[in-house]
Amino acid sequence: MNTPIEDLRAHLAPIDDLESAAAVLAWDQETFMPDGGAEARARQLSTLQSTAHERFVSDETGELLDRAAEAVGDADPLDDDASLVRVTRRDYERARRVPSSLVATLSEATSRAKQAWKKARTEDDFSVFAPHLERLVELSVEKAEAIGYDDEPYDALLEEFEPGLTTAEVADTFGTLREDLVPLVDAIADAPRAERGSSPRAAPALDDDLLRRSYPQQKQKAFGEQVLADLGYDFDRGRQDVSAHPFTTSFSVDDVRITTRYDEEYLPSALFSMIHEGGHALYEQGIDPALDRTPLGEGASLGVHESQARLWENHVARSRPFWRHYFPQLRDAFPDALGDASLDAFYRAVNRVEPSLIRVEADEVTYNLHVMLRFELERGLIDGTVSVDELPARWNAAMDDYLGVVPDTDADGVLQDVHWSMASFGYFPTYTLGTLTAAQLMETIEAEIPNLDAHLADGDFGPLLDWLRTHVHRHGRKLTAPALLERVTGEALSADPWLRYADNKFGALYRLGERA
Ligand code: ZN
Repeated sequence: MNTPIEDLRAHLAPIDDLESAAAVLAWDQETFMPDGGAEARARQLSTLQSTAHERFVSDETGELLDRAAEAVGDADPLDDDASLVRVTRRDYERARRVPSSLVATLSEATSRAKQAWKKARTEDDFSVFAPHLERLVELSVEKAEAIGYDDEPYDALLEEFEPGLTTAEVADTFGTLREDLVPLVDAIADAPRAERGSSPRAAPALDDDLLRRSYPQQKQKAFGEQVLADLGYDFDRGRQDVSAHPFTTSFSVDDVRITTRYDEEYLPSALFSMIHEGGHALYEQGIDPALDRTPLGEGASLGVHESQARLWENHVARSRPFWRHYFPQLRDAFPDALGDASLDAFYRAVNRVEPSLIRVEADEVTYNLHVMLRFELERGLIDGTVSVDELPARWNAAMDDYLGVVPDTDADGVLQDVHWSMASFGYFPTYTLGTLTAAQLMETIEAEIPNLDAHLADGDFGPLLDWLRTHVHRHGRKLTAPALLERVTGEALSADPWLRYADNKFGALYRLGERA
């Protein structure tokens, strides 16, 4: 006789296999599949995903959960079995509340909307996308009503990506962030720019010309993959390929893949995206193998996932100690581009802050304003205070207000991101939640690993990775993001650690302390 927990695991494992097989097909679609394969691939993915979904929402899952729940009782929140029941129950109830007819309608509407969005962006014509977006908003509100919420429908949508966090909490945290961030961006924009060779008291010129020289792809690949291996990414349980948009995907804890894209005239494009995706992948490779083939064998939430990517990308790989270690090697790899460059100039170049139009190209500081703007607009779309028709004007006004730059076209404005065409309302805030979470974790890490900078300057990433493995990675989805943060840092999510980090780092880079 199997125990109820064994029965539940035996039921869930093949569902996870179906989802992982779908992920392999999706990875292939983005990397190696010839264009001609698109239609067959769409059918294959749809079959695998709907089969997995049907099995998951079946009455059998509910019965197995009931029996398993009796067997585990109220155990420790980190107990594998109790967590499996708790988290699977949450997913199950949410999935059961959305009628399958609505799932199908949404899926069709998003595939049409995505086509319309591509056309609208190419032709710079928002009106091509507008009716589709209106429909997606309607359907998403319907979905939120089906799922249920306490305060506003956006809560139900946010919960898909950030379980345990409410819209009001996000708005509150972002409000604190914005209050200090907008003046910081203004101060950076107003910081005096000195030309090379002028008085050492003047602020340094933060230009990034040296990043825009010739960087052959093969050498970028070799250098980046060496860095990834040094950080602890296990190439025996992963690989890196090329795709149009970099991403990380996991088929099991022993097969976690990343992709990148190269620009031979702009070094940061591949380098930092490799480290960013590497951060996501280190998380997935670090999940306790005992959680594999269960709903627990993933990251805690999108925000926590993003925190791991940004921690390695920004706090580690855009730090001075990191480049103290790597800059000599980088200069050796690219003698033509960097032969005349100094560590200091390179460090300043990779940390340049400049308000710009496009989110995915934004620097570490202004990025958060791009996210806040999207959060406020999509919250308004869902609660009915922002209409689709006024969206382009609202977008441009917010860009002007927050960043002081306004796009000439909707293609470079409201149409730039794919998310709304996929009805992924509630996704955007997770980018900034990740940024804030990374900074909050780093304050705890710096207190617990006092000589962290010395380790980074030696290229010794073991202590940092071990800390993350122990406190974050291995738990998978056992804890929600708020529970994880509370447990690890002793505090609820706050914008303050990131603001302290940004004030320190960019205050020094732009000599803001010398402001009158
Ligand atoms: Zn990411």
